[in-house]
Amino acid sequence: MLEIPESATMAEQLTRHVGGGRIARVIAGLSPHGFAFYFGDPQAYDTALTGRRIDQARAIGGQVELMIDDMRLVFSDGVNIRATRQGRLSDGHPLPKKHQLRLECEDGRGIVCTVQMYGCLAAFPDGMNDNPYYLVATNARSPLSDSFDRGHFDALVAQAKPTLSVKGLLATEQRIPGLGNGCLQDIAFNARVNPLAKLHDLTSDDLDRLFASVKTTLAAMTAAGGRDTEKDLYGAPGGYATQLSAKTVGRGCPICGGSITRKAYLGGNVYFCETCQPR
Ligand SMILES: [Zn+2]
Repeated sequence: MLEIPESATMAEQLTRHVGGGRIARVIAGLSPHGFAFYFGDPQAYDTALTGRRIDQARAIGGQVELMIDDMRLVFSDGVNIRATRQGRLSDGHPLPKKHQLRLECEDGRGIVCTVQMYGCLAAFPDGMNDNPYYLVATNARSPLSDSFDRGHFDALVAQAKPTLSVKGLLATEQRIPGLGNGCLQDIAFNARVNPLAKLHDLTSDDLDRLFASVKTTLAAMTAAGGRDTEKDLYGAPGGYATQLSAKTVGRGCPICGGSITRKAYLGGNVYFCETCQPR
């Protein structure tokens, strides 16, 4: 799933790849998929978008939005987006037979989108999308921006129940859109805070480190082009080497060498070192 570092990377790559392109055709809803959701009728996307010029892309939390004149095309975090050129993937391979959306510009550059588990693809006139997930993400402060400061973080903590856990605070209920279970692991690890710890058990030092880690860990992941567990527009893994993830669980703690605990918690495994991140 794309989270903040990957959607930021994807938006930059999309702007470079299709920015300035005029849309020649859009095919949406071709392959039936029970968990691919569209805004309105996907069959109408071609008429709504063809002939329009793509301005740029931007990241909204874990979502990516193409700005196309006064139209918008938004992909949620479960949508795989791949670059295409002249009807093939950018690495020369043929396009997937089944896809949820394909867009081609007049100069042959384009994208093809597939949904593995679930995802949302939405084309709409700017301002017309009332999807709450989109609206909350659009209005939230990004941890990559200066507006996500210590005062904002403290307000999020103050508004949360004291019995909420660190994972519950950071990665649930859209408090920080685009910060999900993936980025959470290294954020908590770098802060030396356990993701299962309750907010009322955190010291002010813990909160200092947690805030600092939200900012610096996400910035480092973004600067490296996303995490190595996710793929970019060209199908390449990101350059940020995850410290704690499904990829590294057998390797032991990067600090003390002790074993890493994996635990299913709040919809997804959390990983932590019992020594470096005491509960
Ligand atoms: Zn450790």
